[in-house]
Amino acid sequence: MDALAPVSVTTRRLATPPLPLLVSPSVFDGFNWIPSTELEWRCLGELRDNPLTEDPSAMAFVFRAPAGVAHVPAELARLHVGRRYGLDDELCLAPYAIDDATDQLYLQRIEPASALWVATDNLDGLYWALHDWAHFHSHGAFYERAANELQCDVSALAWLWINRAEVGLDPSRWSQLRRDILAAHHRRCEQFAPTVPVDARVLEDDSILCALSESLLCRATHSR
Ligand SMILES: [Zn+2]
Repeated sequence: MDALAPVSVTTRRLATPPLPLLVSPSVFDGFNWIPSTELEWRCLGELRDNPLTEDPSAMAFVFRAPAGVAHVPAELARLHVGRRYGLDDELCLAPYAIDDATDQLYLQRIEPASALWVATDNLDGLYWALHDWAHFHSHGAFYERAANELQCDVSALAWLWINRAEVGLDPSRWSQLRRDILAAHHRRCEQFAPTVPVDARVLEDDSILCALSESLLCRATHSR
């Protein structure tokens, strides 16, 4: 494919209703400090299906304000996702600075949706964007990394499930993602040795996670 050929950019607003706390209350000092509502996602052409990694590429959280957010490392967005999203000199969150953004959005009480949108054209990038979106709405000091990440993994999978039509995600592909994330969770528990109980049953079965996801929609509807 010609790298410079015109490709359409689609903008979608993915519903991201807040999840209940699934881990020990000690994991977060600002759980759900601001309820998440939606993530603006711009995609270049059709979403590419690619394997889940631990280091997504071709994904960028783009700052809405030209100067970004104070004390949060920023880089040129086009260096990560190219210019074809209509990007010129817009800044994005530096990929290594997810924790800084989590801290600063919380400390400065900046609503994530007012500060950031995400550009990505691939499933791995979208998964991690949603995972990071969960971090941005619940502040924790990262002492209990495995539990903190579990809360964000379940959030990302639940949001992918309820937006699967919008995303174009087949239920069987979603199920594979869930199994990949469960395996990653087990590796993380070995790596970080949690000191609080971490119950990952919600990740062990499609039907449990689907039911949790659907319940978020009911709650969102009833709270309107
Ligand atoms: Zn994370």
